[in-house]
Amino acid sequence: MATTDTSIRSSCHCGAITLTVPRLPVYINVCQCTLCRRYGAAWGYYYTDEVKIETKPNAVTKQYIWGDKNLSFNFCDNCGCVCYWWPINPPSADGGEIEMGLNTNNANPELLKFVDRKFDYSVLKSPLGSKATPHADDPAKY
Ligand SMILES: [Zn+2]
Repeated sequence: MATTDTSIRSSCHCGAITLTVPRLPVYINVCQCTLCRRYGAAWGYYYTDEVKIETKPNAVTKQYIWGDKNLSFNFCDNCGCVCYWWPINPPSADGGEIEMGLNTNNANPELLKFVDRKFDYSVLKSPLGSKATPHADDPAKY
C-alpha cells in the first residue's frame, strides 16, 4: 500500500455527502465575507475535475444561490453541513481549469493542521449595500 497517498476525504456529519480530492489544498481560506462567516466555512480550492462527489441514495443536496449567481453553496439537507461551493454554468473545459471550494472543516483536521490558513479581514471593511463592492446585493444585516 502506498504511503504517499495525500488524498483528502470530507464528509458532512451524517455521511450523506462525501467529497474526495487527491491532495492537500495549497492554503485554507477562512473566508470572512458576510456569507462564509455565517457558515463558518474554511475553504480549500480545487479544480472541478479533481473532485469526486458521492452521495448516499437518500441524500438531498440543498443549494443557496445569491447575488450574481456565479456559484452555488451546497449543503446536506439532513445534517445541515456546508460541503462545497460549485461554479454554475462553468465555461467549456477548453477554457481552462475551473475552480471550486471544498469546506475543509468537514475533513480530518490532523491532515490539515499544517496547511496555511488565510483570514482576509479586508472584506469586513466593505460597506454592505455599496455598489462598489462585490457583495452589492448582500442582504445580510448584523
Ligand atoms: Zn449530512
